Amino acid sequence: MLLDPKPKSKGADLFSRGEELKELLSSLRDNPITVITGIRRVGKSSLMRVAIAETEQDSIMIDVRRIYSDSSGSIGKADLSYAIQGELEKKLRKERIKTLLSKVKGVSFMGNSVTFDWNDVTLSSILEKLNDHPKPFIIAFDEAQYFRYYGNRGGKSIQNLIAWSYDSLANIRFLLTGSEVGLIHDFIGTDDYKNPLHGRYIYELVLKPFSKDTSIEFLKAAFAENKMQVPLEEVIEAQNHLDGIAGHLVQYGLNRLKRSHDEALSETFRTARILFVNELKELEKRSPRYRKALEFIASGATNFTAILRSFQASGDYASKSRVADALRILERSSWVNNEYGRYSIIDRVLAELIRN
Ligand code: ADP
Ligand code: MG
Repeated sequence: MLLDPKPKSKGADLFSRGEELKELLSSLRDNPITVITGIRRVGKSSLMRVAIAETEQDSIMIDVRRIYSDSSGSIGKADLSYAIQGELEKKLRKERIKTLLSKVKGVSFMGNSVTFDWNDVTLSSILEKLNDHPKPFIIAFDEAQYFRYYGNRGGKSIQNLIAWSYDSLANIRFLLTGSEVGLIHDFIGTDDYKNPLHGRYIYELVLKPFSKDTSIEFLKAAFAENKMQVPLEEVIEAQNHLDGIAGHLVQYGLNRLKRSHDEALSETFRTARILFVNELKELEKRSPRYRKALEFIASGATNFTAILRSFQASGDYASKSRVADALRILERSSWVNNEYGRYSIIDRVLAELIRN
């Protein structure tokens, strides 16, 4: 079902991401840490879930936002431990996982349920045993930016755990994705030498919006699936306004099933803008410079010199390297595209929002 508002988890529902899926599966075999980056609603969770469903490697997947929302404003070790326990429990049918876990001190079994005595069990002891798995074992965290609420040091202890695993456990693979600003700026911003992950190689899979043609094909396929005839001009116009973010296209498609083209389009715009307004707020919290850089780019400053001059003209005499840093973060977190030194805002809805 292409027009499902939830992340896809079956390969058959994942539209036109064959290359990215192959790239991800191969990174999960080879790299200790893989991060999927990409703008909100572009399809990161979908790609993660389908990869987890299709890989031959064993895995667990945890939505960190869910643990956060069940907790009381900060995630404790117990919250994370129980989430991991729950996920591992689902895998106990696999004898090899049961065997590995049975070697962890403090773990006992009753049929297909497992009890962890958390006075004895540590996350690192679990990882150590999973590391003995014949194939690299995947630990996937969606919405990983919520780890900044883990413990009392802004998620440092999780970063330390991942860094330790990177250094010591050859057979553990971390897969992270989540909201772009939080994840890149706060969690894996590896340029910061105080970050425990500093200096570790992280494979970044950058998920781009669909091309124009793919977006149109997507909408056509989605309407065909719903046995609905929608004139091609409308589909083209929708793509023209909404660009290639899968989530926007799904939203338009769902709206269009019930409403006229014009209504569906404006409704989709409204929801897309709300999402971006919230994300822009997150961005500004990190630094007002990000927002300014986006404004300069949206209003036509498309190369580095022009952006730097715009900063100066606005009274902000940030150094070259500071501006370059800000642009790098914006690029890595998929707010802007940089092609051969020409900057552009990644999405048309976003560009319009920033300009106004
Ligand atoms: P993200 O995690 O980047 O915010 P999601 O994976 O939640 O994005 O996807 C947003 C919406 O778009 C969901 O409705 C999802 O089903 C849909 N979607 C994303 N990528 C695809 C795809 N390749 N094929 C079909 N639907 C997709
Ligand atoms: Mg997601």
